[in-house]
Amino acid sequence: MRYSKGFIYTLKEEQKEASIASHNLLLRAGFITKLASGIYNYLPTGLRVIKKVSEIVREEMNRAGALEILMATVQPSKLWKESKRWNDYGKELLRIKDRKGNDFVFGPTHEEVVTDIVRKYIKSYKNLPVNLYQIQTKFRDELRPRFGLMRGREFIMKDAYSFDSDEEGMDVSYQKMRTAYYNIFKRCGLSFRSVEADTGSIGGKDSEEFMVLSSTGEDEIVVCDSCEYSSNIESAKSITKNDYIAEEPLKKVATPQKQTIKDVCEFLQKEEQFSAKALLYKNENNEVFCFLIQGDDELNEIKAARATNSVELTMLNDDEIEKAGLLKGYIGPVNFPNKDIKIICDKRLENINSLVVGANEKGYHFTGAKLHRDFEAETKDLRVVKEFEFCPRCKNGKLKKIRGIEVGHIFKLGLKYSQSMKASFLDKNGKAKPYFMGCYGIGIGRTAQAAIEQNHDDKGIVWPISIAPFEIEIVSLDTRSDEIKKYCEELYSDMLNKKLDVLYDDRDERAGIKLNDMDLIGVPIRIVVGKRNFKDSKVEVSDRKTQEKYLIDKDDVVEYVSKIRDELYKNLQI
Ligand code: ATP
Ligand code: MG
Repeated sequence: MRYSKGFIYTLKEEQKEASIASHNLLLRAGFITKLASGIYNYLPTGLRVIKKVSEIVREEMNRAGALEILMATVQPSKLWKESKRWNDYGKELLRIKDRKGNDFVFGPTHEEVVTDIVRKYIKSYKNLPVNLYQIQTKFRDELRPRFGLMRGREFIMKDAYSFDSDEEGMDVSYQKMRTAYYNIFKRCGLSFRSVEADTGSIGGKDSEEFMVLSSTGEDEIVVCDSCEYSSNIESAKSITKNDYIAEEPLKKVATPQKQTIKDVCEFLQKEEQFSAKALLYKNENNEVFCFLIQGDDELNEIKAARATNSVELTMLNDDEIEKAGLLKGYIGPVNFPNKDIKIICDKRLENINSLVVGANEKGYHFTGAKLHRDFEAETKDLRVVKEFEFCPRCKNGKLKKIRGIEVGHIFKLGLKYSQSMKASFLDKNGKAKPYFMGCYGIGIGRTAQAAIEQNHDDKGIVWPISIAPFEIEIVSLDTRSDEIKKYCEELYSDMLNKKLDVLYDDRDERAGIKLNDMDLIGVPIRIVVGKRNFKDSKVEVSDRKTQEKYLIDKDDVVEYVSKIRDELYKNLQI
């Protein structure tokens, strides 16, 4: 492509709306432009990157035996009612009405539609397994769209769905996708790892997320320092050792003006870990729960939602707490005043013999409280795992926290959709059985942007060659020299003939501007043609990543860059 005709418009200024480098660079390099919150247009260079990522995904999905289809984006509510997600999906689901007032959704994911397709056609075990995938635009009305393509409302996803006749088959399909995902992210040049994950509202059994490691990632990952255990913080477990505390009788004590756990414990000279704080939440059905966790712990809202079969939990505000008959700052499980509110304790509280808890009376707390003696409650794992706790798998290693960007997610769905949507086939004995399903997603835009987050410097993007908008860039620094112009034009057409993926900066611009744009856009291999070297029949070839420069004889350049190109691809081989 000729730069002068390429609709490439770079911006000098840092972009205020961008709080992470990759978002800023995508905007500044002219790859995308914002249309509305979380909604972007892809410009020519941006679309080239999207296509390259999509093509790698497509090749690996095909290699794994999946079949590409394209499902409708607008889906009838009927299917969502069948799966019960019409109610369960929450506010991210964009609901729309047609002119007759019928309800539709703009697809945030396609389990319902694909199950509907498969149940229409596949009636016999003989036609299983099957894995159908698509690469398509999704819409999710995210609460906080941010970071450009990382968390958009409209975004491009690859979603695949496997159907098997039994659980073993599902496991095989899942493993095939797992391998395909390793191949995809390796080929995209990413440094990543797979981690155990929560299955969220899609529901199901095993699930793993593929995380691109980056300090700006939205996800927190827990990893063991001595075995392979790694998990999203949302589902991470740990082994903890509580210090021993002797049992004491329950005693009401005055704690005037002390409301926070820290103040109360300081005042009573108790350690925060031997106190329990009560947190009040309501779910989408307005059921209220009181979660009780150790004073120095944090509630894991995902675990709390799972423990209560809730889709969404929101903390009660002061008014709601008062209306529930509770006293903020003094809420505790002993003599709990509201029988309609279920109390759920974190499991660790089972082992603590003596706790400081609120007395549900202004200015008072209890000391010496003990679960199953002074109050009753169900116990569940509710807490956020902390660093340096012990690994739940090897039991010896210490846990460490790192950050990542979730670019892919694979799930074993089991029978969740096939049962609720009555999607079945006839087995060998002629008996109707529901399909065993799996679903597998990759954010195409998020993957492209994650690559930038991991590969950039203060000058711009450093694209891995496999997903760069172009593999090679020719920059002519002296557009007025006929000789140089002739050489560049010939070089460009020679490269096109050789099917090399090349951008030719033929603009009549100052050298400084062209070189800055070259670094910003981040094409991996660059050929700079300038007067000084050209009079010695040389051109400068440089590597975007290392910035190393080599003077190459002008007639050898095609051969030379082809070799570099092949070497760069070698590093990404699977
Ligand atoms: P997250 O926890 O980040 O919201 P998710 O668990 O909702 O992700 P999935 O439903 O598993 O995501 O979707 C599959 C993939 O689609 C994700 O791994 C991610 O790469 C991508 N994706 C999900 N939501 C968005 C979004 N809002 N913008 C861009 N990509 C997204
Ligand atoms: Mg999400």
